[in-house]
Amino acid sequence: MLPDLATIAPQGCGPIRSGAAAIPAPLRQQIVESVRAAGAIARVDLAKQLDVSPATITSLVPELIGNGLLAEDLAPVRQGQRGRPPTALRLVPQAAYVVGLKLAEFRHTAVLMDFAGGTVAEAAWDRANPQRDIGQLATEARQLVDRLLTQAGIPCSLVLRAGVGLPGFIDHRTGTVHWSPLLPDGEVALAARLSTALGVPTTIDNDANLLTLAELWFGHGRAHSDFVVVTIEQGIGMGLALGHGLYRGENAFGMELGHTKVQLDGALCRCGQRGCLEAYISDYALVREASTALDLSVREAQPAQIILDALHDQAKAGNEAARSIFRRAGRYMALGLANVYNLFDPSLIILSGGRMRYDYLYADEVLAEMATQIIQTNRPPPRFEINAWGETGWSRGAAVLALTEATATLCIPEVLA
Ligand SMILES: [Zn+2]
Repeated sequence: MLPDLATIAPQGCGPIRSGAAAIPAPLRQQIVESVRAAGAIARVDLAKQLDVSPATITSLVPELIGNGLLAEDLAPVRQGQRGRPPTALRLVPQAAYVVGLKLAEFRHTAVLMDFAGGTVAEAAWDRANPQRDIGQLATEARQLVDRLLTQAGIPCSLVLRAGVGLPGFIDHRTGTVHWSPLLPDGEVALAARLSTALGVPTTIDNDANLLTLAELWFGHGRAHSDFVVVTIEQGIGMGLALGHGLYRGENAFGMELGHTKVQLDGALCRCGQRGCLEAYISDYALVREASTALDLSVREAQPAQIILDALHDQAKAGNEAARSIFRRAGRYMALGLANVYNLFDPSLIILSGGRMRYDYLYADEVLAEMATQIIQTNRPPPRFEINAWGETGWSRGAAVLALTEATATLCIPEVLA
């Protein structure tokens, strides 16, 4: 087990960096991000952490306090401490707000987040139809944000940015969706459309990247420089954290674990190619097999979720056909995880997503099979964490995307002046 986060950082959110790992940002932004990660920190400790002189911190902090980003109050008294208690810097939560949305085929989720990283409000939106055009998607996003603001009693004008995640091949730099199961067309300028609909600059990203950000900021990844998140939802996703930051690849299309090939001329994947990992273990792959194994012809119109739950119940009840479907999926999962481990040698692999409640994907047999397929050395065995975030992990990660960008903007000297 990993150490309890509460013992590492009693408050705060964001990556916990070792002394030598500098934040790749201007100093004012480094100050804000370090205070956010610590929750509350004395000036002298902040100077040590950022490897700058206390005088440098003292020269910059009044500007940040004057602009309402930082506040200073009495720090908790340490045991055995004498003399005047030190003051501690903390972020002012109300300095800014951002929204984070996860758009999905059947259920969108959203959070309103304050400047300190606290969740102010949450909302969800159920949809029966998995695909919609870009106009519908933008309208749904707008209505979801309106619900959040109404719930929190916060005016639209206080929201600085939005971050939005969705499944598919997403270029977060250009804001373009090259392909997503949510949209009938490819090459869609979704970020621009959402920026107009939401009235704030909006950044989009692949949803697995957002869950990785959530792990970096709030979860098991906080204290890890390099780790992998594998997500199992309708499809199979992956995120890679390197040096306490997200790695996306040269063109932002990296980490498509679900579309790595595990079988030559294998099963047809929804990406149009054959033999992808996703074509063997994702929802639609299991539903395809379940329909035959369970004679579900009369219930074909049912959502995948209901069919999968029925399949899982049957497997638990001893139905051999159902069990063999999950066993096979588990073996493919082991193959995928072994490939990840052999490629990246990460300190931690976090398995996450709504399908983690189907324990066949991380059963002891799966991890044991994976262990036989990794390069055999005398290193310690792979370290796994299972994280069933529930649905808010995704949208909190989306909000982190927006909050990081809002922080960078607010810390520009010309903005602060
Ligand atoms: Zn594929």
